[in-house]
Amino acid sequence: MKNLVIVISSNNKNKLREYKEIFEPYKNVIIKSLSEMNIDVDPIENGNTFQENSLIKANAVTNLTDEYVIADDSGLEILALDNFPGIHSSRFMKGHTYQEKCQAIFDMLKDKKRDAQFHCVITLAKHKEKPIFFEGIVPGHISDIFTGTSGFGYDPIFIPDGFTKTYAELGEEEKNKISHRAKASEKLIDYLKTNKLI
Ligand code: IMP
Repeated sequence: MKNLVIVISSNNKNKLREYKEIFEPYKNVIIKSLSEMNIDVDPIENGNTFQENSLIKANAVTNLTDEYVIADDSGLEILALDNFPGIHSSRFMKGHTYQEKCQAIFDMLKDKKRDAQFHCVITLAKHKEKPIFFEGIVPGHISDIFTGTSGFGYDPIFIPDGFTKTYAELGEEEKNKISHRAKASEKLIDYLKTNKLI
């Protein structure tokens, strides 16, 4: 089978690492970071949905390469806060640590229900081709304490349904089997298999 180069349109090293792990079983897939492609972009994510922002990030790169590109926009949605931080997950309290951001979320949730979900939309795109979207959602709740050391972002405060540990306590391997990114990636992988690309 021919090699398939996929450029990850993200400057987030954690996302890049997770995609490398997710595609590890597919030996003809070569995951490339933006820096490996000598691409320097930081598109303005001014969309109103994960899908819009995911597409903005994909388009910024398909304009610069003919390889396949995947971009993901993702975030934590808390029901009692009208899905906040949602598409603002990365920008919320910019400059503060995730421990501080998570503490602010605990403060906002005093006496409120803690139902939440992680949401991810992946765009698969190629120069001059119609982009395709894949969505993954994992329902769960916000923990009472910040706990666990693996992963990134809000992992230490999110407990997925069916588990008693946060994403950060589950560890990378377990998280990558069940996460919002893994769910969206499963659909992407099905698409790539159906189209005999992997
Ligand atoms: P994006 O890179 O603009 O899509 O922002 C994603 C932000 O959502 C990250 O910076 C984190 O704050 C949060 N996020 C997305 N996925 C995860 C995850 O798997 N674990 C923890 N936080 C995440």
